[in-house]
Amino acid sequence: MQRPRAFAIGLAAMACEGERRHLPDDVDWSGEIVDVVLADEVSACEGDLVAIDRHARDVAQLFGTASDERVLVYWAMPGDVDEYCQPLAGGCALPEGAIATTRMAALHEVVHVLAAALGRSRPLWEEGLAEAMMPYALFIGENHPVAMLRQDPLRDLSYMQAGHFVRWAWRQSAERTLAVYDATQLRDDQSQALAAFDSAWGESLYEIGDRYREDAPDLMDPVVPFVEEPLLQWSNGELRAVIRLDCSATDTLTASPGMRRVVYLDIPRPANYQIRTAPAQAWLLEWPVTHGDPFFVELEGDDEVVFLEPGRYALDLIIEWTEAPLAVEVLARPVLSSQPTTPD
Ligand SMILES: [Zn+2]
Repeated sequence: MQRPRAFAIGLAAMACEGERRHLPDDVDWSGEIVDVVLADEVSACEGDLVAIDRHARDVAQLFGTASDERVLVYWAMPGDVDEYCQPLAGGCALPEGAIATTRMAALHEVVHVLAAALGRSRPLWEEGLAEAMMPYALFIGENHPVAMLRQDPLRDLSYMQAGHFVRWAWRQSAERTLAVYDATQLRDDQSQALAAFDSAWGESLYEIGDRYREDAPDLMDPVVPFVEEPLLQWSNGELRAVIRLDCSATDTLTASPGMRRVVYLDIPRPANYQIRTAPAQAWLLEWPVTHGDPFFVELEGDDEVVFLEPGRYALDLIIEWTEAPLAVEVLARPVLSSQPTTPD
């Protein structure tokens, strides 16, 4: 626990004195933008570290953040994160460009740090901007943005709804969205926050909110690019691939416990499919997720027969942690139905 404690003292001193932060000596991993300190209990695979760094880089480009800006990530278990953040928060952005976070919250918190160059803002803009940048689709909610502007993230603000609205606003004008974030700051007076929106955007939040409620699609695709790869290929009526899981490789992620790797496949026609992923367990999920009740199935690894509709699927392969790389042979092929057809 020595490293986290030293980290906290450093932050507190810097916050009080207003000095520029210096990185602790025990950074475990550095990427293009982020430096990661791993808590003692955390075992991280290379893919997670690269994913955080890539997200920070993509968001920094969108925000126009200075290229020499670095983000310090203290990656800890939930109990350790509670020492720095509100209980059960999962992560938080700390002064001077650092975050304390669990693996789950890391991408969200990274955006807070990069947005902090603009200052703080109302929860609708802070949490909405962080969610708007996430690399997955977001669903619309029921609230008008004027109502969301007064909501509290710990009580009634839906992060997904806030993210959906801010993503929609971003697609109208990224420049004005950042201007609104900057102009609103931490005003706790609703009328002042509305006036700040009006002057930064050029129209009122009532008008923009009405247009959003009328025009916005239920599902908003990510702003930050998301790459679906590798896409497994069919050959001679079946799909066979050897997928290597290696914690030191950039395509392998941490699972709890163990390691995981996600690959994608296209199902050409409706049928029963035999699927084998042993020795990995797997989740097969329709992809991309475009509604609130997606199809998914858990696979134990041995040959299983699953009925699948045509479309793309994500296959999330999960194994116990192993020092040595492990090869998983993935097989998928349609099987003839043994069910008699219904007579005419
Ligand atoms: Zn947040």
